[in-house]
Amino acid sequence: MTSVPPNSNPTSKPPIVLSAPSGTGKSTLLTRLFAAHPQTFGFSISHTTRQPRSGETPGVDYHFVSPETFESLIAQGAFIEHTRFSGNYYGTSIEAVRAVAEKGRVCVLDIEMEGVKQVKRTDLGAKYVFLKPPSLEELRARLEGRGTETEESLGRRLERARVELGFAEVPGVHDKIIVNDDLDRAYEELEGYILGVIS
Ligand code: ADP
Ligand code: 5GP
Repeated sequence: MTSVPPNSNPTSKPPIVLSAPSGTGKSTLLTRLFAAHPQTFGFSISHTTRQPRSGETPGVDYHFVSPETFESLIAQGAFIEHTRFSGNYYGTSIEAVRAVAEKGRVCVLDIEMEGVKQVKRTDLGAKYVFLKPPSLEELRARLEGRGTETEESLGRRLERARVELGFAEVPGVHDKIIVNDDLDRAYEELEGYILGVIS
């Protein structure tokens, strides 16, 4: 087990790791959760080498960096976990988690499957929530509807979604699995679970 440096999480509340195939609705649900509980949660701002989407703010949604910067951060040991996804690097820095905990807030990580595996090997003591799309057809429709993907990146994300859905079937990987069919219902289930584990 890898020890994340002391003070990375000085609160006694477990960080929440939310994962799901891209396009399932993580950002939508987290935006709602943060708006409903503005003082309770803090988002772990990941680093990525992908280009910002319209509406994304650097330093808020992600730290957008070059591949060279990302690789230098890897070499410095800056990441709790990192991986490549759909042609880009993504990673959670030690600093991202520490910055949230320092404010006394519960840290929420939005990461994919390889990151989940790596965080599980640390002593962060997180709770793992998996958000499931109602079907792969609906997932494709959501990704298309979001309008952020090329045909190529859409294909890569759907391919990866199959693998992530398979991994989520392994017993014991996640503490909670929520199907994001009806948004209001899924939100209530997510909020109820998270408030329960941090109370
Ligand atoms: P993720 O962060 O998991 O990649 P997003 O939150 O960006 O996913 O959601 C992908 C798209 O699906 C967005 O256009 C969003 O508005 C839509 N969406 C999210 N949840 C639902 C839902 N329950 N029903 C229908 N559309 C949804
Ligand atoms: P997107 O490009 O749609 O923002 O994110 C693509 C995928 O990368 C999503 O599944 C998201 O959860 C994941 N992701 C975002 N940040 C990180 C991170 O820091 N580490 C890992 N492993 N995955 C991340």
